[in-house]
Amino acid sequence: MGVHHGSVLRILRDAGPLSRAELARRSRLSPTTLTHVTAQLLRDGVIMETETHPAGQGAIGRPAQALRIVREARVVAGVNIGAGHVELTMADLQAATKGWRSFGFDAKGTEPRALVREVARQLTELSDEIQLDRSRLLGIGLSVPGPVDAGRRIVQAAINVGWSHVPIADLLEEEAGQPVVVEHNVSAMALAESRYGIGRDVPALLFVYLRTGLGAGLVIDGTLFRPGGHGAVELGHIQMTPKGALCACGNRGCLDTFVCEAALKRAAGIKGAAPEQLMARVEGNGPAWEAIVGHLTTGLASAVNLLTPDLIVFGGHLGEAPESLFQRLRRDLPPRIMPHVRDLLDIRPSSFGPAAGVIGGATVALEHFFYGGGLH
Ligand SMILES: [Zn+2]
Repeated sequence: MGVHHGSVLRILRDAGPLSRAELARRSRLSPTTLTHVTAQLLRDGVIMETETHPAGQGAIGRPAQALRIVREARVVAGVNIGAGHVELTMADLQAATKGWRSFGFDAKGTEPRALVREVARQLTELSDEIQLDRSRLLGIGLSVPGPVDAGRRIVQAAINVGWSHVPIADLLEEEAGQPVVVEHNVSAMALAESRYGIGRDVPALLFVYLRTGLGAGLVIDGTLFRPGGHGAVELGHIQMTPKGALCACGNRGCLDTFVCEAALKRAAGIKGAAPEQLMARVEGNGPAWEAIVGHLTTGLASAVNLLTPDLIVFGGHLGEAPESLFQRLRRDLPPRIMPHVRDLLDIRPSSFGPAAGVIGGATVALEHFFYGGGLH
């Protein structure tokens, strides 16, 4: 399989079913190459012949022959490692999930090797549970809370779990016996939303995720923004005031020190684990709510002026925030951003809810092992 296979598959994923003529037009492949590529994909069972009605004719008129992806022909595993919790799922070629597992771990005291061993064990159990035909499994996509190297193998730094330069893909490959690709968690979420969620027709999408800390990921024209090859948009470390509290990054007064899970829990008077709908609990504390919304608005205004996203997608605690937060931001943000961006910008919760992380992992695996032409 090669680059042409990946390109044909991507076109069918985004616009299929398509006639061979339309596929030829969009792929710009020669008739010979296209015939060769589609024959091989048909043989592998990842695309199939189907009938479609030409656009504009509804169900009237003679159906035409077309090609479409067989979404259940292959499967990837999506894994999301957070600060003290892991979620796992299996996903088809359109990132629809089947099965779900999660488990907790000690974020400060768990060796990466021990953690991936448990991930591998849970993946085996999940495969059995959904009676997965292992020959259809392409690989594992791992979403992690920190920037990763350009080769998508190594976590460079994940402060929340105390990791520095951990070769997490190699470790999991050894334990699970499957190919693994790794990506920064919020970047993976942004990519998932852009491929399979509410960002499909959006030129620039900024995903903002709030759990332990505040992170972001950016997709521009379908491409994940990975500055320096490692890709993490450090929205949480925009400095709000040089004399603020010390941040985990070593600087002072970062946005992350004002808008993070610990700050939300303090404002809501909650000790222990963060409950669901945490933002709604904070809203009851008027002054603290105003301060948090104010800092968030300031940080987002800077991000919008620098990155000009058409859509900001909220995940984690922000994704389940009360509608009043979205209303506030839609009102307060426009006057603070450049006039030409005001009318374009929309802010919405993630279409994947709490599954954004695992679907992000699955999306990265699909990109790498299937739509990139890496099918094997
Ligand atoms: Zn910081």
